[in-house]
Amino acid sequence: MPIEIKPIGYIKTPYKEKFAIPRQPGLATAAKGHIEFVDEFNSAEFFRGIEQFSHLWLIFQFHQTANKSASPLVRPPRLGGNKKIGVFASRSTHRPNNLGMSAVKLEGVNSDTGKLSLKVSGMDLLDNTPIIDIKPYVPYSDCVPDASAGYAQNKPEELLSVTFCESAAQQMKALQNQYPDLRLLIEQILSQDPRPAYHKGTPSERLYGVELYEFNVQWRVTLQTCVVENISKISS
Ligand code: SAM
Repeated sequence: MPIEIKPIGYIKTPYKEKFAIPRQPGLATAAKGHIEFVDEFNSAEFFRGIEQFSHLWLIFQFHQTANKSASPLVRPPRLGGNKKIGVFASRSTHRPNNLGMSAVKLEGVNSDTGKLSLKVSGMDLLDNTPIIDIKPYVPYSDCVPDASAGYAQNKPEELLSVTFCESAAQQMKALQNQYPDLRLLIEQILSQDPRPAYHKGTPSERLYGVELYEFNVQWRVTLQTCVVENISKISS
């Protein structure tokens, strides 16, 4: 009899769209967010002792692609977006049961407002992703230093340097107090060149945009440099 799997909570992250979210956690450490819990789990007892752990495993549902059926073969961006590999030999979002798992840094536990929240950072999750389970990261068993990982052995390299044009630098300065991590987050995600595999590393006149927090960040790529041209509030 299949068990019903219900979210225990939802994560709030800077990433308002899938585009430009790093492929794995830890690639943009400046991404700060928090997890809020449904009433059934909104109680400190469930989390007693969790502050002893610096990192947590988040088991979650790829809710934005959940309606797409899973095919046996996928095309990992790490393989240039062309070569196919079995879905269970990948960390693809398009998978049976749509489950993802990410190790994130625990920044703190907060229950000031009566609503419990876990502050976390470095996540690779879309805003409002349903969280199915949380487990403490246990290095002696979860970290296998001599493991081999084939096509995904190493952290993706940084492909671009990131600069801000004069006006974007001014906009950034004006946001510094309210969003102290935004500049570093922009630098961390754009240095990985989030464009589709066939554009990566090549200059393009096209203006790109990504929605982070409540802002639309626009940039162009010239040679090996990403130039942030504009940071504007997303009009609601
Ligand atoms: N670390 C997880 C894992 O290995 O299971 C996720 C890896 S997956 C390649 C990371 C990507 O999933 C992100 O770059 C983003 O494009 C996508 N993603 C994140 N949250 C999502 C969501 N709620 N629904 C669908 N796709 C999501």
